[in-house]
Amino acid sequence: MHKLKPTIEIDPSAGFCSGVKRAIKSAENLLKSGGEVSCLGEIVHNENEMERLKGLGMRVIGPDDSEIPGPGGRVLIRAHGVTPETYKEMEERLLSVTDATCPVVLRLQQNVRKASEEVFARQGTIVIFGKQGHPEVIGLQGNAKGNVRVLSHPDDISGAALTTPLHVFAQTTSNAASYKKFCEAITARFPDAASRGEVMLHQTICGQVSKREPALEKFARDHDVVIFVTGSGSSNGKYLSEYCRSVNARTLVVTGPGQLEKQWFAGAASIGVTGATSTPAWLMEEVASAIETMTSEASCT
Ligand code: SF4
Repeated sequence: MHKLKPTIEIDPSAGFCSGVKRAIKSAENLLKSGGEVSCLGEIVHNENEMERLKGLGMRVIGPDDSEIPGPGGRVLIRAHGVTPETYKEMEERLLSVTDATCPVVLRLQQNVRKASEEVFARQGTIVIFGKQGHPEVIGLQGNAKGNVRVLSHPDDISGAALTTPLHVFAQTTSNAASYKKFCEAITARFPDAASRGEVMLHQTICGQVSKREPALEKFARDHDVVIFVTGSGSSNGKYLSEYCRSVNARTLVVTGPGQLEKQWFAGAASIGVTGATSTPAWLMEEVASAIETMTSEASCT
């Protein structure tokens, strides 16, 4: 008996943000001419894409001396950016540097630096709302002088050594609702300073990130089953896949086509394939095509 084949759609809002696309393009351009290119950390948190780039000659290096190439070695700075000290060190080591820091992150670094210079003389504080140890946050911390605090939750505020005037900036990939709550809590802790305009809250979440949630919500509602493709180490993938499942309980997470299971699609008339900001388009296409094959077999039973 022939059953109707389900429709399969790839989420047009899923996949790399412009900053990551730009960094990957830079890497590919460098690799085209042959030889090795070293990237300071993973260019994107997706093992499949990293494998592809490593196959083209990319090497991922850490801060360890033994990993850093000698003078003239080609080094790529990924979209997250680095600290001024790292730029200085690369210059001293005579490395050939390609800077693929996302322009949005660069602007944020400049704003953090400028704000810290302003409040430094008055013993104020720079607060970065973000994940401690995240490479973008490390880059932002490195651009601020004086009292810099990295906080990730309103509960962190009461125990933190904060002084006014105070500037608050968010890591570009933060969740908009959580940042709003955080800003309300910090304003509530310093009502007098806030009324004097000395608690300055900066909206620095990237538009490409904040628009993603409403688009994903619609996509998840519009499909019977959603396959969420993400690298296992991606925090954005973890967060967005959980969000997707909260909208559509038939959300299944995979790292690639090999993890798909035929029974997931039983009775589904529409299947959506989506992913994190670190999921490459080619991988979502491979997953969609594997689903197509699986459901074609199923529909002809
Ligand atoms: S700022 Fe936006 S575009 Fe740039 S790397 Fe971050 S998420 Fe991507």
